[in-house]
Amino acid sequence: MQNDDLKISVLSSGSAGNVTYIETPQHKVLLDAGLSGKKIADLMKSINRDINDVDSLLVTHEHSDHRQSVGVLARKYDLNVYANEGTWAAMDGKIGKMPADKMNIFPADTVMDFGDLDIESFAVSHDAAEPQFYVFHHNNRSFVVLTDVGYVSDHIEGVIKNADGYLLECNHDVEMLQNGEYSWPLKQRILGDRGHLSNVDGANAMLDVIGDRTKKVFLGHRSQHNNLKSLAHLTVASILSDHDLGVGHDFNLFDTDVANASSLIVV
Ligand SMILES: [Zn+2]
Ligand SMILES: [Zn+2]
Repeated sequence: MQNDDLKISVLSSGSAGNVTYIETPQHKVLLDAGLSGKKIADLMKSINRDINDVDSLLVTHEHSDHRQSVGVLARKYDLNVYANEGTWAAMDGKIGKMPADKMNIFPADTVMDFGDLDIESFAVSHDAAEPQFYVFHHNNRSFVVLTDVGYVSDHIEGVIKNADGYLLECNHDVEMLQNGEYSWPLKQRILGDRGHLSNVDGANAMLDVIGDRTKKVFLGHRSQHNNLKSLAHLTVASILSDHDLGVGHDFNLFDTDVANASSLIVV
């Protein structure tokens, strides 16, 4: 008998590559393809799934850590690919020739019905052409992916509030970034309203959106240069516990990695 779960594995997350796998009884979906096709196929194997069974690929924005193998995967595995018009235009010339019948428009701030999976898009402030992230709804469960965002607006908070699970950005430690080797303009870009959320920003966003339904939060899009897995985890856990939210009691925090998939969990 088939169960009716919404399952997630964060296959890869970090400033060097991003891919998330979403599964329902009817669908096997990838969100972003920011690594080589070979690496993504291997990560799928590591969670006992076959990339040949994936039906759809959604793209958040055209930065290479999200779209590297979009064209390769679409051609090789016959995937239906979804992105908004601005992202398609910005990917043009970077992903090879896309089969026209595989290119689908997914406008911002809309819900698309995929049978047993509803997917909701929302626009974000980030320095790409038309960046958007997504909420996955199945069987009264919801999972939100939100990384690559300069700040979390009231509108976004309203859309993503009290989901069952999240992948939320904890990109950098502000002190490590400020004392690190990045150029001043790049530091300003990351810290700005169209850049990335720091560990503290990510924790504050969690305080605003998690609710009584929320049981699983993945910390994502960690910078290789300006953050550490343990630092991101400790920073977030201590801010949440300062607000009487018990990590390990009320809900669980999961680390993510650019090179290793998280285990496939039920949301
Ligand atoms: Zn990114
Ligand atoms: Zn980006």
